[in-house]
Amino acid sequence: MIIDGKQAAAKLRITIAKDVIALKASKGITPSLTVVLVGDDPASQVYVRNKAKQTTEVGMISNEIRLPENCSQAELLSQLTHLNNDTSVHGILVQLPLPKHLDESLVIGAITPEKDVDGFHAMNAGRLLNGESGAMVPCTPQGCIILAKQHLGNDLSGKHAVVIGRSNIVGKPVALLLLQQNCTVTIAHSRTENLPQICQQADILIAAVGRAEFVQADWVKKGATVIDVGINRIEDMVTGKMKLVGDVDYAAVSEVCGAITPVPGGVGPMTIACLLKNTLEAAKLYG
Ligand code: NAD
Repeated sequence: MIIDGKQAAAKLRITIAKDVIALKASKGITPSLTVVLVGDDPASQVYVRNKAKQTTEVGMISNEIRLPENCSQAELLSQLTHLNNDTSVHGILVQLPLPKHLDESLVIGAITPEKDVDGFHAMNAGRLLNGESGAMVPCTPQGCIILAKQHLGNDLSGKHAVVIGRSNIVGKPVALLLLQQNCTVTIAHSRTENLPQICQQADILIAAVGRAEFVQADWVKKGATVIDVGINRIEDMVTGKMKLVGDVDYAAVSEVCGAITPVPGGVGPMTIACLLKNTLEAAKLYG
């Protein structure tokens, strides 16, 4: 079975749009998201454009601040202070990656945690670790859980989840969310030994590696739910054109697993939908 992320994201955006209308009516608040883009990386520009489009489509206010590639750390931090103090801004997102001369963790740390809709601030990471309410949870991991539940139902208790990848953006937070759902969680990474054997134990297998078609069919337990986070651009052997593939060998793994997210059209669309969800939450809680 294919887990359709496009459809799930569209459904989530409809719920969000309804909530935006209700929030406007009840409290006069229109959720607003400001994206800060430094430099002119083409991929980042596409992401930012998509975010802006979807933000306005659900009835929220979308703002964008563009800073030049050579912008100084002080300049960027001063913009963030301004946005932190602006009560009409509910969500702030600094598009990553930043140019090399800027300190990413310092910049993320300068965003007020309540407005950190990416959920990357150490305060939000700590709240997630402690299972505290009010944490802004990173968007891609949230999307993974929604998609897993779409196939398995709301109760993931006792399932063995194997996460490949331990990044702060995907691997670690998705592992914590699975733990919150009472899964037994294994985190595998670049130094893991016997990776295929570990993956074979997974009822839920999350691949967040960044290596094209890395996960093989004989690593996957029959009937497992496979969530493919990877986005890799490779050349199509037949057409010679570039195409997007995930971290899982989709065609072969589809034959073995119970359900799988495609790339594109799986986790990707859920990420922006969950960003809108976080912005709505920020406006509801702190607006
Ligand atoms: P990252 O490079 O920060 O982390 C990759 C992880 O994979 C590391 O923790 C590393 O230990 C692990 N790894 C690397 N080689 C390995 C190996 N041979 N065996 C086992 N583990 C190995 O990447 P990331 O930011 O976590 O992103 C992972 C992938 O997900 C990328 O393809 C990225 O483009 C994609 N991504 C997609 C979305 C989305 O919206 N769908 C969002 C974020 C990231």
